[in-house]
Amino acid sequence: MSEQTPLHAVERLRQHLHPIADLAAAAALLAWDQETYMPPDGAEGRANQLATLARLIHQRFVSAETKQVLEAAEGAAGAFDPDSDEAGLLRITRRDFDKITKLPTEFVAERARARAISTQVWREARPKNDFVTFRPHLEAMVDFARREAEYLGYTDHPYDALLDNYEPGMTAKDVRTLFARLREVTVPFVRAIAQRGPVVDAAFLSQDYDEAGQERFGLDVAQAFGYDLRRGRLDRSPHPFASGFGQKDVRITTRYNRQDPMSAIFGIFHEAGHAMYEQGVSPALERTPLSRGTSLGVHESQSRMWENLVGRSRSFWSHYLPRLQQVFPQQLRGIDVQTFYRAVNIVRPELIRVEADEVTYNLHIMLRFDLELALLEGTVTAADLPAAWNAKMQEYLGIVPPDDRDGVMQDIHWSGGSIGYFPTYTLGNVISVQLFDAAVRANPSIPGEIGGGEFGTLLGWLREHVHRHGRKFFAKDLITRATGAELSPESYLAYLQQKFGEIYGLGVPAAAGTR
Ligand code: ZN
Repeated sequence: MSEQTPLHAVERLRQHLHPIADLAAAAALLAWDQETYMPPDGAEGRANQLATLARLIHQRFVSAETKQVLEAAEGAAGAFDPDSDEAGLLRITRRDFDKITKLPTEFVAERARARAISTQVWREARPKNDFVTFRPHLEAMVDFARREAEYLGYTDHPYDALLDNYEPGMTAKDVRTLFARLREVTVPFVRAIAQRGPVVDAAFLSQDYDEAGQERFGLDVAQAFGYDLRRGRLDRSPHPFASGFGQKDVRITTRYNRQDPMSAIFGIFHEAGHAMYEQGVSPALERTPLSRGTSLGVHESQSRMWENLVGRSRSFWSHYLPRLQQVFPQQLRGIDVQTFYRAVNIVRPELIRVEADEVTYNLHIMLRFDLELALLEGTVTAADLPAAWNAKMQEYLGIVPPDDRDGVMQDIHWSGGSIGYFPTYTLGNVISVQLFDAAVRANPSIPGEIGGGEFGTLLGWLREHVHRHGRKFFAKDLITRATGAELSPESYLAYLQQKFGEIYGLGVPAAAGTR
């Protein structure tokens, strides 16, 4: 009796959760391997392994024992400051427990198996432009998503149940409101840029650049940002990603195109941003449900900050262009900073989301959001999707892909059943600017430091206000605490208009300051 102090109760909960976190890390490592090194015929066995792990994780987490240790710890919750790690652990474990217990174990295991097979089919079908082979797997993924939404429950729209997995508390209605505001500014802005015409000849970036040089430069910069290679590594995969197995092993991948070196280089900056977030989580949260990013929107804000606000800035290239020229002296001879800066910031509708510029990027997300809503509502089926995709491309970007490979099959997400996920990319863009502005307000030296190849002040601010907390605070609260304001698209829109208005000689449209 006397040994059951509040700290003891939380410690018991923590001990109970440790092996569950270990199993989840093992499953994540198997998934990482599937994307990087696993031979194609390993897919069947891997699907079984992932299904077994998903079953074990689910069974342990929804068990009577979890319920009992969680309730015991909650009985002691009054002893903890709401900002403490203990209170955070109780808050998040309760949220996860209430959600995950709504899903039957067999559903979770069966879905894990189907996802592993489906991504493997996608991986092989995409290069062959073979939507027909992929289609039944996509249908199955949509069906799993619908069933999950029914199990979890929702008030307005099944989408809300799924989005909440990635962006806790956010709804389709919130996304619609945000997207309407972004569209209102972006669409005329893209049109004005198109009318202005090209301001730079970027042909020098389409020469032959060897992969080793791309990798060396990308990793040098990622380390300068603060990505710790003692706790990370870089590999190749068809779709770049970051994956962590605790904060001491957070890996990234990229893909290389010899005729487009900036794709891999910005890809490495991007994934390093994700990885630094997880490397920066407080060690005290290790092996608990708190030891990762709080939401995918906040996660994406970290990748987009390093990729765009740092990596696509003029001051960054004033320092790093001479270094890139050392790696590729022939290809970049005589290129000045202004030319390079404009070349890596060309605004032009593209087929591929991950290659999109900062201005048109969110239009790719709006398209996917519209289609996901329609899939869940049943107004569009998997069979309709290629045509629906092309129609939306025409509507939002004014271009149509020549095939499904660079159209509906371009992203890995739907193949893995991640439906309700895409809006977090746009949220990430929005949050990245709000956080960056707050960091610069607190430390006006940051832009100058970036021009000197120094990133420690920015990283330190992010560590303090974002990274170390892991999942302890919900995204909404984290943003308010870090920036002193609620999430809003206005600083993001002002940033886009200022940066690209200057590059394209447009000035800042009058509408920018009115809201
Ligand atoms: Zn990302």
